[in-house]
Amino acid sequence: MNHILLVEDSQTMGLLVKNKLESELNVPVCWTQSLAETKTLLGTEQKEFIIAILDFNLPDSTQGEILDLALQFALPSIVFTSSIDDNVREIIWSKKVADYIAKNDPNCLDYLIQSIKRLLTNSQKKILIVDDSPFFIKFLSGLLRVQQYQILTANRGKDALIILDEHPDIQLVIVDFIMPLMEGDVLCQAIRRKHKKENVAIIGISAEGNKNMAARFIKTGANDFLVKQSFIVEEFYARINQCLDNIDLIRMTREAAIKDFLTGLYNRRYFFDAGSKLFSSSKRKHISLACAMIDIDFFKKVNDQYGHDIGDQVIQHISSLIQKRMRDTDIVARIGGEEFSVLTVNLQQPDADKLFNELRQTIQDTPLVLNVNGNTETLQVTVSIGVHLQTEDSLEDMIKKADMALYQAKENGRNRVQLTSD
Ligand code: GH3
Ligand code: MG
Ligand code: MG
Repeated sequence: MNHILLVEDSQTMGLLVKNKLESELNVPVCWTQSLAETKTLLGTEQKEFIIAILDFNLPDSTQGEILDLALQFALPSIVFTSSIDDNVREIIWSKKVADYIAKNDPNCLDYLIQSIKRLLTNSQKKILIVDDSPFFIKFLSGLLRVQQYQILTANRGKDALIILDEHPDIQLVIVDFIMPLMEGDVLCQAIRRKHKKENVAIIGISAEGNKNMAARFIKTGANDFLVKQSFIVEEFYARINQCLDNIDLIRMTREAAIKDFLTGLYNRRYFFDAGSKLFSSSKRKHISLACAMIDIDFFKKVNDQYGHDIGDQVIQHISSLIQKRMRDTDIVARIGGEEFSVLTVNLQQPDADKLFNELRQTIQDTPLVLNVNGNTETLQVTVSIGVHLQTEDSLEDMIKKADMALYQAKENGRNRVQLTSD
């Protein structure tokens, strides 16, 4: 199992940080109090450390020796320090530390958590560096590797465009201005023809010289610009973070628009939008499509007896059971209060009957465990499911038929699956 290594000689601080990290990140923390103890631990312990949080000032490490040790074991590290002057700063960045947090800041623990989370998610992010200088590519890759990013490189604009096509999940491109064949701003324009700012950020970078370079880059679609000669590592990281944070923010806003807040399932609007597309493509390709409407039985009674909050928990519980049973290619949505809908492709009648009956049975057999006034209680709910199997003239038609089947299932006694097809 993955662990966090914490090196901190102060008893109070160590305990505080350990508790905070374990409760907020749910990762066990291994805590040592000196350089010597850490050396022994890393030399003998078989544990996998994903990150190291290092106090800069330890009784046996005052000039960054603890950072050398972390570097030797290739541990991504964050420094936690009470004094941050230019000398300490210089040592920190020269030892390939990912970030530092000043202990005297009242929000330092929150910053630490943020910084750790960032470092852990960076490994899923791809950055493309485009520069004709192998030296500069190596230099930038080294800096970005410290931050755990996945790095791709190209030394010509043409190759960069091919790599971008091959890796649609690249979030940031760092573009040198002066390159043979295709200059940076032309590459920028070419990237922007295909990739919008909300999906891919661009940082232009160039040697000092032309005063208009920054403006040219930004006008052709770059988000930011850096000069090679006045390069400061801390500033570079801050700018990279800002570009990537913007993309995250846009993605989260987009997700919020199509997902239901309570369950994380798709919302009604998305179900109709994406469902219509799936309907058309299935019809064109003669692929069978099934539409299911799932409604919790006697849900009003749950609200009346246990209150609205527990009612919400039941909705979350049922939604996660439905989601677990469906495939990634299915569209699962919460389309009303306690009503869910599913669109699934390539499901023939016997399989549909089996799938939805298994789901119904799982829901019946998996009660929600509640804590009511300190006592554990279980709350069993059931669902009724209406399924329509044939591709009709429209998605709305399918939904109407599945809804009628659901009504039948309710009429016939609830906790059952009713299938229809034409
Ligand atoms: P049936 O078996 O016929 O489906 O009966 P039912 O009680 O489940 O159905 P009914 O449509 O009469 O009641 C649904 C209830 O769901 C009424 C509404 O207050 C409640 N509800 C709707 N949305 C939410 C929600 O987001 N949270 C909670 N807790 N309750 C909700
Ligand atoms: Mg209901
Ligand atoms: Mg209802």
